[in-house]
Amino acid sequence: MKEGDPPKSDETDEGRLSELLVEDRVIEPSEEFKKGAIVTDDQPYQRAAADPEAYWAEWAKQLDWYKPWDKVLEWNPPDAKWFVGGQLNACYNCVDRHVKNGLRNKAAIIWEGEPGDRRTLTYWDLYREVNRFANVLKAHGIERGDRVAIYMPMIPELPIAMLACARIGAIHCVVFGGFSAQALAERINDSQAKALITADGGYRRGTIIPLKHDADYAIAETPSIEHVFIVERGDFPLRIKEGRDHWWHRVMQDAESYCEPAAMDSEDMLYTLYTSGTTGQPKGIVHTTGGYMTGVLATTKWVFDLRETDVFWCTADIGWVTGHSYVVYGPLAAGATIVMYEGSPDWPERDRFWQIVEDFGVTVFYTAPTAIRAFMKWGKEYPNRRDLSSLRLLGTVGEPINPEAWMWYYETIGQQRCPIVDTWWQTETGMIMITTLPGIGKMRPGSAGLPFPGVETAILTDDGEVLETGAGYLAITRPWPAMLRGIYGDPERYVEQYWSKWDKATYFTSDGAKRDADGYFTLLGRVDDVLNVAGHRIGTMEIESALVDHQSVAEAAVVGCSDEIKGTAIVAFVTLKLDAKLSVDLEAVLKEHVARKIGAIARPQRIIFSGDLPKTRSGKIMRRLLRDIGDGRILGDTTTLADTSVVEALQRQYEESEEA
Ligand code: ATP
Ligand code: MG
Repeated sequence: MKEGDPPKSDETDEGRLSELLVEDRVIEPSEEFKKGAIVTDDQPYQRAAADPEAYWAEWAKQLDWYKPWDKVLEWNPPDAKWFVGGQLNACYNCVDRHVKNGLRNKAAIIWEGEPGDRRTLTYWDLYREVNRFANVLKAHGIERGDRVAIYMPMIPELPIAMLACARIGAIHCVVFGGFSAQALAERINDSQAKALITADGGYRRGTIIPLKHDADYAIAETPSIEHVFIVERGDFPLRIKEGRDHWWHRVMQDAESYCEPAAMDSEDMLYTLYTSGTTGQPKGIVHTTGGYMTGVLATTKWVFDLRETDVFWCTADIGWVTGHSYVVYGPLAAGATIVMYEGSPDWPERDRFWQIVEDFGVTVFYTAPTAIRAFMKWGKEYPNRRDLSSLRLLGTVGEPINPEAWMWYYETIGQQRCPIVDTWWQTETGMIMITTLPGIGKMRPGSAGLPFPGVETAILTDDGEVLETGAGYLAITRPWPAMLRGIYGDPERYVEQYWSKWDKATYFTSDGAKRDADGYFTLLGRVDDVLNVAGHRIGTMEIESALVDHQSVAEAAVVGCSDEIKGTAIVAFVTLKLDAKLSVDLEAVLKEHVARKIGAIARPQRIIFSGDLPKTRSGKIMRRLLRDIGDGRILGDTTTLADTSVVEALQRQYEESEEA
């Protein structure tokens, strides 16, 4: 598109978004990858569409059930029940059955601590640990249906604790170890957890995060907590309250070696987990057992093309849903070998992830765009130091990935050998919903792809009109097995937030997206972040991608701020690559670059250069705070923000640049 051309779409209807960015690169998986892939043709899409319930039942049969279900799906919108009447145990499916089926000595977890310490747990080791800790919980009065809060670093005891809860039918509520005592207290009180599992501390960027010490402030305000279990990670000082606080290794010494797994109803709760809080107050999402396990097993196997021999590394912290579904439940249900790493990617140097890939021979690597953009900012020299030839498949999740970051990932990390799966999903969906399948899907940088077989998504306008092609709201139009079953303790908000925008059977994702002629879905950003410029509604992703397309830019966040003359001014916050050539007119150059790439309408009025952008602790850009800065408002909820100094610095910088 030439500069000055009108944007491609001149729709101004509410609920429709403009489409600006034309991305026409298409990349096919290599012949070699295709040949060995698990899914080699599009037959599964047809089979699933023809009879979704029969298709999901096929997947569910890959789990071990104590009692088969009577009915696959009971759908009273918006309430769904999957595999009704069936009974199973999530822990049994992740551990026991592999021990029984010949994987006793297979590595289940290969772990590296930030200081460089290492542990490998075979499935047999995991089995023994989980059984004993399940007995510890029972011995301390934790029963089926009780809630257990977990606040831990990324150490093997974290999945062990979750699986032990699942084994006895207790509901785990993992709280990200980087959260404050206050956030922990709120989440414990919301779930009324009876026990807390934590550690004396964990390592992050060479310093110790004193988890138990912090947790003490929370426990002072959470009367429901009767017992606290503490893993000794280091030798970090802490106070022990006799009778309430127990060292993990001491109580494990006396524990019996076998604990019968509880036969759970398919619809019994497996866990609750809070969303990242990018758009506001986090929501406590409820997931149940049978459908969730079915959904994560299916997606782990097909999206990651998982084979017996793979070494699977999902870098997400288990405190987020990605860690629940693709560090713990999906890969372990599939009997895979997983890698876990405790610390920061730039400690002690910026090649840490690549060192781990090399040392453990990682074959499938799954990370977030925010990490990829950080790697881009640091430069190629770090991955180039290491042997990455074991990698065969790459994945991304968490935010839209800008086409330039996608290409960088493809070329520098995957060395043009590894397909990339760009997986769209949410805490609420429990499982990957939109992606390509790596052996068959043509890849289009920046576009997530097709709904997973058995999943049905659509683009809707405000009035609920379905757009075959074009941009609008992303909706999910058919129940899926791993779907959320509620917001913990808040049934009204559940209906209002997710099932009220159109009708009660259509799930509102809060994301904007477009669907192309080939059926591919491309995410455009969150509906809350949509910019309204001269009557056009523009998603943030396209302008940001146009900026990241420039060779000097590593990351960009775009917001619409109020402007006396124009109504809305586009303001871009930009982080440069470390080796970027700084020139006086870079601001003008970037504005021009955007105008040339996607049209004059998207030309930013202002560009603010910043070393960092405000992000959630899960690494997502919080544009609402940037809007607050631009509009000179007091900042909204910052409890889920990773680093408050970033917004403070930006606020100062913004004010100074306004005066100039
Ligand atoms: P909250 O709902 O509290 O604001 P959150 O939405 O950030 O928090 P998550 O459930 O962790 O919490 O994130 C899901 C969101 O992440 C999606 O709705 C979408 O906006 C974004 N997302 C995840 N994966 C992708 C992807 N592959 N492409 C584009 N966006 C993605
Ligand atoms: Mg969300």
